[in-house]
Amino acid sequence: MMARRQTIDPLVRAKVIETWGNACWLRLPGCTGVGEEDDHIVPYAHGGMDTVANIRRACKHCNASRQDRVLYGYGARLHIVVTPPGSCDREAVEWVEAHRQQGDPVVSWLALARAMRLPESPSMAQRRAVAMAWSAAYRQFAITQEPIDVWMIRTTTSSRRHPRMFDEWISLDYDVRVIDPGFEVEWERAETEQAKRLVRQWYGLHISQALVDARQRERRATLARLGLRSDRVTVASRPEW
Ligand SMILES: [Zn+2]
Repeated sequence: MMARRQTIDPLVRAKVIETWGNACWLRLPGCTGVGEEDDHIVPYAHGGMDTVANIRRACKHCNASRQDRVLYGYGARLHIVVTPPGSCDREAVEWVEAHRQQGDPVVSWLALARAMRLPESPSMAQRRAVAMAWSAAYRQFAITQEPIDVWMIRTTTSSRRHPRMFDEWISLDYDVRVIDPGFEVEWERAETEQAKRLVRQWYGLHISQALVDARQRERRATLARLGLRSDRVTVASRPEW
């Protein structure tokens, strides 16, 4: 990729900056804000071209941290369903089943834990194994250029390696859904002290659809200004916005 970047025509780069500006388009956690490199919207590895339509400026940090993850709809469409622990196999799954098409992959932390035959209260090492399986599936689907819908269910918006995962989802414009039946319902369901502790922790994160919607409105306005919401030239798989 490094060699590729150096070969971009300086005239194309100048036109990119003139058209879209020199601010970093990605805004991933840790962004420095200033465009230092040329970033392909449709990754070079997916056949993305060195054109003004396909290049935006990005800071070094974001360009490296994005890797080849695609913006929502420029490949797979990622639907991230965030739900409190007790709703993982109830409301969240019901919601996904009501919205997915037959054949859409569903990646759920709980389903993975069950597939691994983990006990009700898994050890830290076991939890970590499930988290890694979830992340491995995420990493693969995030770079998939096939226009498929993928439904990913999880309870938290951060991980040890990605403490600001939620911000990454917003930056890449994933469809983020918060399925929350309410504290009372969750509290009632939690039968053990451990379960009640997890419920308290989850509600302490203050995750809500209203918060997601506000962040997405802001992000989508930026993407529209950057020509990334109505650009029909780049890929045929682009969804209707
Ligand atoms: Zn940046």
